[in-house]
Amino acid sequence: MPKLNEHYQDLKESYLFAEIAHRVAAYEAEHPDAKIIRLGIGDVTLPLGDLAIKGLHEGVDAMASAETFKGYGPEQGYSFLRDAISAYYARNGVSVDTADIFISDGAKSDTGNISELFDTDNVILIPDPVYPVYVDSNIMNGKNVTYLSGNAENNFLPMPDPSVHADIIYLCSPNNPTGAVYNKEQLKEWVDYALANEAVILFDSAYEAFISDPELPRSIYAIEGAKKCAIEFCSLSKTAGFTGTRCGYCVVPRELVFTASNGQEMSLHAMWNRRQSTKFNGTSYIIQKGAAAVFTEEGMAQCRENIAYYQENARIIADTLKRRNIRFFGGVHSPYIWFECPDGMESWEFFDYLLNNAQVVGTPGAGFGENGKNYFRLTSFNNHENTIAAMKRFEHLF
Ligand SMILES: *Cc1c(COP(=O)(O)O)cnc(C)c1O
Repeated sequence: MPKLNEHYQDLKESYLFAEIAHRVAAYEAEHPDAKIIRLGIGDVTLPLGDLAIKGLHEGVDAMASAETFKGYGPEQGYSFLRDAISAYYARNGVSVDTADIFISDGAKSDTGNISELFDTDNVILIPDPVYPVYVDSNIMNGKNVTYLSGNAENNFLPMPDPSVHADIIYLCSPNNPTGAVYNKEQLKEWVDYALANEAVILFDSAYEAFISDPELPRSIYAIEGAKKCAIEFCSLSKTAGFTGTRCGYCVVPRELVFTASNGQEMSLHAMWNRRQSTKFNGTSYIIQKGAAAVFTEEGMAQCRENIAYYQENARIIADTLKRRNIRFFGGVHSPYIWFECPDGMESWEFFDYLLNNAQVVGTPGAGFGENGKNYFRLTSFNNHENTIAAMKRFEHLF
């Protein structure tokens, strides 16, 4: 009989989206004429831009003739795409070397897999509330995590406590689910703390393209010293609508070298390269062709049009909450709006209240951590018409 990885027993049941679907289906069965509006969507809805589609077609056509056919590609990704990403960083004022970029099928894989590079004996800080992948991937590997409390007092932007040591720190900015974004001073505090503790920051920047204020950092490498302490994860999912197409990338700087217990120097870049070469055979050439088109200036301009559409929805939601005097977070540099449930309701209670009284579906904050249990997430990924209709229904609630 195999002895199983019993750490899987330590995972919390991931029932969030199943439970939402279940409650909505039950309501629909009882109210067949109800016009339910879904503002819980954590996925993009607009189609890919023309240039991404053209790039994908070129990739497909290349497979049709012996001269251009592609078999296995480099595990790290094709240099045409890695160069295009390095150039994209440069246009945003950040220098990232092509050699430090690894292409993948998405940031979920990378943020989930990275924990393999670290021992169980580490102090690991993870924000609460946050994207559940960081916690679950560490629990699967038998690791203990310490939560960094995000709350209304710190605007859901937890800061380092210099009196407490950490080895590994996960940060997500702009944050899912709260939409909160660290500014440069705040991120510098984290980088300085990591350098002082010889810690590594695992920085998830999946929503960087939603940042519209040039003063806010879209990459941790906008902060001096970050290449000595940070790995960055990015994705084309929210930037370019690639949630179904699948492409992401991470930056593992060669400066990230730490001393092992036997005194040997170990490079995280070399370890990640070895890990990827052993367990991953690269992202499809076709997808990488589409992705490279996204990182041209014209390709990115098309992505920005879609992002502006979502941002307009976020503004409509934010305006309604402001008018109703409901304090919220996010909604500007993020597709997410996060607010405290009115009248002291808990998040599942408010979910039912909203479904029953407005036929609007959102996401209970409890699904993102203890600190979310009185909060609620709405997203801007539905269309304008539905977003406006849902917000009209908000005017008469609570
Ligand atoms: C959506 C999302 C990602 C992207 O995941 P992919 O696997 O690239 O689709 C990464 N991190 C966060 C916080 C997200 O919300």
